Amino acid sequence: MQDKSLAQINNLVVEYTTNKGILGGKKIIHAVNGVSLDIHKGEILAIAGESGCGKSTLAKAILKLEPAKSGEILFNDKNILSLNKKELKDFRKHAQMVFQNPYASLNPKMKIIDILKEPLEINTDYSKEKILEIVKEKIKLVGLDENCLDLYPHEFSGGQRQRIAIARALVLNPEFILADEPVSALDVSIQAQVINLLKELKEKYNLTIILITHDMSVIEYLADRVAIMYLGEIVEIAQTEEIFKNPLHPYTKALLSSVPQINKTDKKIILKGDLPSPSNPPEGCKFHTRCPYAMEKCKTCIPKESGIRHKVRCFIYD
Ligand code: SF4
Repeated sequence: MQDKSLAQINNLVVEYTTNKGILGGKKIIHAVNGVSLDIHKGEILAIAGESGCGKSTLAKAILKLEPAKSGEILFNDKNILSLNKKELKDFRKHAQMVFQNPYASLNPKMKIIDILKEPLEINTDYSKEKILEIVKEKIKLVGLDENCLDLYPHEFSGGQRQRIAIARALVLNPEFILADEPVSALDVSIQAQVINLLKELKEKYNLTIILITHDMSVIEYLADRVAIMYLGEIVEIAQTEEIFKNPLHPYTKALLSSVPQINKTDKKIILKGDLPSPSNPPEGCKFHTRCPYAMEKCKTCIPKESGIRHKVRCFIYD
């Protein structure tokens, strides 16, 4: 059966210019390099990779929280990169973000009721009664009691704050949520509660979730599909089960081998060196400086994506 598409990202490029420091001049950070991706309705799509690979920038660019240099993001047949102010406001009702740190993402001076009311007051013309009804419904949906609406963020644990952040993302009934490392700032003991809540929301409400994470165990439990990112490019994408059973790209194999619960062979693949700087990425296959299987042509030629449902970008599979 054909998966129903919610959004398509075509050849998206995001770059920054930063100062070079004491040497002066500018340098360009190539954060996202021509990413193309189809987001299916009702799926949890994980975007995984090391810190600095561009996954959070990609997520923010999808919500137009970061400006893209070129490419397109089609949502309901409209390119969101060229929306005007009014259209962008409308798009924001469909797409919401849950940030990594629930300690920083909730305004400490606002009561929970006001935090949850705010998006509705800004984006809708609902009556006060209707807004209150929605706020009560969403706080219950994330497993918290109505009584907590009168409290301030500091009166909650990290896990409860992340539930409140998820409730805030849900008040506008979005079609998709972008969750950027939603459990990495939480104690391990409460991570499972938030992970289970996201799974429940997806299953009950057919919510589409883009999950940005470096944690392969979270992905194995939660995601339907996984895209592996390296230096601003997607190097492999497939159904989660397929990626975990049959990883193809050498970088994916290395990522999976580093997780003890997943690596059944105990053979850890140690990559050479660190992630190269996105301001000076290698020529050819960007992974060639660390790849244990690199060939001569990998240094100069760029591998194309091959495969249909399981796609990979590596000369080994040409
Ligand atoms: Fe390694 Fe070459 Fe494949 Fe890149 S194209 S992952 S360097 S084998």
